[in-house]
Amino acid sequence: MSAILEILPHRALTHTDYVELTVHFRCNLKCQHCMILDSMHWLTPADDVDFQALLDENLRERKWKGLILTGAEVTLRPDLPRMAERARKAGFEHVRIQTHGMRLDNPDYCRTLVDAGIDEFFISVTADTAQQHDLITEVPGSFVRTMNGIQNLDEIPGISILTNTVVTRMSYDRLASVVERLRYVRNLCRMEFWCYWPMAEEAKPELIVSHLDVAPHLRQAVRLAKVYGREVEVKNFPHCLLGSEASALVNDQPELRIDPRFWNEFHRNGFHQCLFRDQCASKQCLGLNTAYTKVYGWHADQLKPMSVGPTQA
Ligand code: SF4
Repeated sequence: MSAILEILPHRALTHTDYVELTVHFRCNLKCQHCMILDSMHWLTPADDVDFQALLDENLRERKWKGLILTGAEVTLRPDLPRMAERARKAGFEHVRIQTHGMRLDNPDYCRTLVDAGIDEFFISVTADTAQQHDLITEVPGSFVRTMNGIQNLDEIPGISILTNTVVTRMSYDRLASVVERLRYVRNLCRMEFWCYWPMAEEAKPELIVSHLDVAPHLRQAVRLAKVYGREVEVKNFPHCLLGSEASALVNDQPELRIDPRFWNEFHRNGFHQCLFRDQCASKQCLGLNTAYTKVYGWHADQLKPMSVGPTQA
């Protein structure tokens, strides 16, 4: 444990230090929980004019320290290294990519990205085993490639790895195993757990799962990740159900520059629904969403409005 703490890389900066730009809407996985699976074929990514305008904005105003290149799968863009170089020249201290990590199984490609200035890698790890991860991504071999990619990045000093595991019926009871699977990754600074966002008024039955069933597994994963020295962020889970791990709920996000039509889809989630919203002091909680309440109701006997305290920042 002390050895793990000693080799931790630099911490990722806070969300307000970053701006996120969607630069690509194609992917070679088909993750069942993907937020944009049904919209990526019509969402328009930022073009070079948009990209340069963002760089110029930051050169002028120094608003952000970090740039996140995202969309669907940005490693499918051949000019990704060049984009990173331009971002660094424009004064961004950090460039992060959001990726499923498959292409990182090539160590030379990892080195190319790092040499170009990418120093933070936010990687989707959907489950703890190849069988389950590949079932979720619908691409055989994807887990092995992603794990190889993480291992390759772990050989490069000075970079930070962040992971995201989306919590669904297909993954909720494997969260602690995911933490354990990544236990020896030295460059892993933060683990995030995003509870399923339906992006619709109806949930996919194979994905939605009761928060009451998720809660003990999520708390266990958060505790374990902390033991291994990771920062932890949980998204979209009732604050009051996290109990002793309530401080892990962080729904803050970097500023997102995306096709404005995305927000129509996003608002279909219908967040912030809760019987106790008016009495609750939590500033982080997104409550329940429309699709969730249709299946599991309001949990009137289980949710408890929170009072002001150190976990409600
Ligand atoms: S009671 Fe408060 S913390 Fe619990 S779900 Fe409702 S809004 Fe969130």
